[in-house]
Amino acid sequence: MVKINKILCPVDFSETSKYALSYAIDFAKVFNAELELFHVIFDETQIVAFYLPQVTFQNFDKELEEAAKKEMEKLIEEFDELNNVKYNIKYAKGTPFLEIINEAKEGGFDMIVIGTHGRTGLEHVLFGSTAEKVVRKAPCPVFSVRLKGYKFKMP
Ligand code: AMP
Repeated sequence: MVKINKILCPVDFSETSKYALSYAIDFAKVFNAELELFHVIFDETQIVAFYLPQVTFQNFDKELEEAAKKEMEKLIEEFDELNNVKYNIKYAKGTPFLEIINEAKEGGFDMIVIGTHGRTGLEHVLFGSTAEKVVRKAPCPVFSVRLKGYKFKMP
């Protein structure tokens, strides 16, 4: 019998990742598993180095961190069902797909529940899909969740 003791749910606070979280909570209940809500805060040094080498943002990283924590608080308030599972919250800093894969490895997770197609248009073209990269490189099974009503567009 497959054992699912630890479930990793990366959240970017988009509608899709909230939808994925509702699945993750249900899986945690069914398997009596621990759930981790994981958010990757963008590394501001990458923005500064890549786009604006001559600019420094005072307190920018602190503000990013505080904003992420506020979003996480709102998310938890939205999901009463979290009270019925064992969960923890964790933050990392860096490139989302790399940090998610690293966390899955380091934390010995049995499953990742991730939203897909959260981003559209230019942002997707520039950064690629986090979900796609996680599916390709993850050390454990990945359950990807698409928003209801999402229509696949043939390339
Ligand atoms: P994407 O494929 O880039 O549209 O992203 C899809 C999913 O990747 C989101 O629904 C989240 O589950 C996850 N994700 C994206 N960015 C982050 C982040 N900064 N921190 C945690 N998870 C993320």
